[in-house]
Amino acid sequence: MIRIDFLGTGNAFTPSGRLHALTLIDGNILIDTPPTLITQLRRKGIKTSEIEHLLFTHWHADHTFGFPFFMLERKYISDPMKEHELKIYLRPGGKKKLSSLCNVGFPGSLEEIGDMAEWREEEKLEILGTNWNFERFAVCHTPETDPHGYELTHNSGIKILHCGDSGPCLEIEKRAKNADVVILEMGMPDIGDFPYHYTPSDIVKFSNKFPGSLILVTHNYASSKNFSEGFQPPILPKEVCQLEDGDAIEINQNGEIKIIKNS
Ligand SMILES: [Zn+2]
Ligand SMILES: [Zn+2]
Repeated sequence: MIRIDFLGTGNAFTPSGRLHALTLIDGNILIDTPPTLITQLRRKGIKTSEIEHLLFTHWHADHTFGFPFFMLERKYISDPMKEHELKIYLRPGGKKKLSSLCNVGFPGSLEEIGDMAEWREEEKLEILGTNWNFERFAVCHTPETDPHGYELTHNSGIKILHCGDSGPCLEIEKRAKNADVVILEMGMPDIGDFPYHYTPSDIVKFSNKFPGSLILVTHNYASSKNFSEGFQPPILPKEVCQLEDGDAIEINQNGEIKIIKNS
């Protein structure tokens, strides 16, 4: 059984009812560390020390600024005896960026950050101790953030495409053909031309191109469906699922996908 939890589904502005986009795979693989990460894990009843693998997509604050809190909490609260291993998968140069972030946030408290984890920069790798391997791929987002997505393949053959932050992108479309589930961001509404984010009309085009894939929309610019203020959720094809915070999917050994709505 595969389980993917969406602990947050908002874009950088955390629209009403949403925390920053955050994906947790099988309870121990986390993609990115948004500023509210600790709160999101606590709500789910997960300790930071249970996270064994951290995958980074790019260097925007809504995906990284929770890192110093995560490491400090591990050091002093969840794993003071250093009993739990942590592997961090990121692009070359990322370790330096995250180390400076820790030094800015908690000077003097996280100087040993380099030794608190195993840092892996490979573009494709088996995630040891899990049933997953990944291939990292470049996406179309603010170039200064070195943006990437992850094609995650389970031992059973199930493929999940986590596209990070990206606008419409040939590399995503190439990989979407073979993916069972595509996790797409929808960071901007249809109020202009935004090459670095999908808009609702981009999502509709994508869905028409890949009618067989389950498309899950996160990093949403719109408020949660229960809120009347802010941007309202757009109407999208029924094959597209606009995730809400706390939603999850489960995939059984026959490849059947169940969407579990939080509310
Ligand atoms: Zn973002
Ligand atoms: Zn971004």
